[in-house]
Amino acid sequence: MLNGERKIPRPLRWAMIGGGRLSQVGYKHRSGALRDNTAYQLVACAFDIDAARGRDFGINLGVAADRCYDDYHQLLSEEAKRADGIEVVTIATPNGTHYEITKAALNAGIHVICEKPLFFTSAEAREIKALAAAKGLIVGVTYGFSGHPLLMQMRAMIANGEIGEVRMVELQYTHGFSANDSADKFSESQKWRVDPKIAGPTFVLGDISTHTFYISQLVLPDLHIKSLLCDRQSFIPSRAPLEDNAMVLMHYEGGAVGRMWASSINAGSMDSQFIRVIGSQASLEWSDYNPGELKYEIQGKPTQMMHHGMPYLDESALACERLGALHTEGLAESWANIYLKFAIAISAQQRGDQQTLDNLIYPDINAGLEGVRWIENCVRSADNGSTWVNYE
Ligand code: NAD
Repeated sequence: MLNGERKIPRPLRWAMIGGGRLSQVGYKHRSGALRDNTAYQLVACAFDIDAARGRDFGINLGVAADRCYDDYHQLLSEEAKRADGIEVVTIATPNGTHYEITKAALNAGIHVICEKPLFFTSAEAREIKALAAAKGLIVGVTYGFSGHPLLMQMRAMIANGEIGEVRMVELQYTHGFSANDSADKFSESQKWRVDPKIAGPTFVLGDISTHTFYISQLVLPDLHIKSLLCDRQSFIPSRAPLEDNAMVLMHYEGGAVGRMWASSINAGSMDSQFIRVIGSQASLEWSDYNPGELKYEIQGKPTQMMHHGMPYLDESALACERLGALHTEGLAESWANIYLKFAIAISAQQRGDQQTLDNLIYPDINAGLEGVRWIENCVRSADNGSTWVNYE
């Protein structure tokens, strides 16, 4: 169980680029990173495309005025001059800026925590992976809910053979917030999401399905896609060529099959993410709508509902529990867990502790690369008339 006690020798000097006052995701980063008060110190920022608003926001959060910068170029160059300059930066800007900012930060010798979808192409992701390796720097990707303890439980039970041989994987990340186009015109956060120049080659596939795809990789690390078929469409025509709805069928190596439904036009739905893994003897099911429970169904026996924080869980799940059974353990705790793992990875890298790096399970550059690869393959299939394509 985690209690906030320090896990690394000292807090890392941390900055944020993007994630400003009006952003959707900025607070999740800050509450995740600063939750324990022993892993990060927020010492610098370039929070906003509007420099004055970003500075004002930074000062209100307690960042020193002379370390609230106008943009990321100034942040990286000024911090490089300081003996106590930043060691790690979070990039929480719209998708189209991730690649150039990540590259600039790595070239400045700074570890990176970046939002998903990581980049537009897997070629960019491979280039950045090589750059990070050459510089000896960590790149983490914020698949927010992937730090939930019950996903570690799911991973452990599947690995222990408790559902038998995996036959089917059902994935879903849907909501109804884009059922009509009003936000496309008026919401700053939505406008860029339907603009391919800034969002990249997809809308919902990149925006939401990458989260659930990573969760599937987290709980099923040995399952690899062999081929897939993606059907995507835009029910709001102005969003084309980007999709507001997509369905993907998958064939995995070894014979298992899967499907993913990603949608922002699931009107009225507040369900968000769902994963069900069906084995030859039993199934496991988890949803972030009710994240504190993991459904375990053995064929022919009564359903078991496993609760977070209970002693019958695997030690890997209990190791990242924060609040204990009976108390809601959700998104904020999950963000705190992945931020803590980023800090442990960065600190291990700084100290040359390869054993820790080898055993740490967290969304790293490979997880970011795999998300981009997933999007690329989906787009290739969809643009090829929704036909089966080999997974490349
Ligand atoms: P947003 O439009 O709500 O906010 C973007 C923020 O970045 C704003 O504060 C804006 O001023 C700032 N910004 C834009 N360009 C900048 C630049 N060049 N330099 C500095 N600041 C800049 O977007 P959002 O919804 O917060 O999404 C941001 C990123 O986070 C996207 O990549 C998105 O896919 C991702 N996201 C992830 C999650 C998650 O759960 N991990 C949730 C939402 C969004």
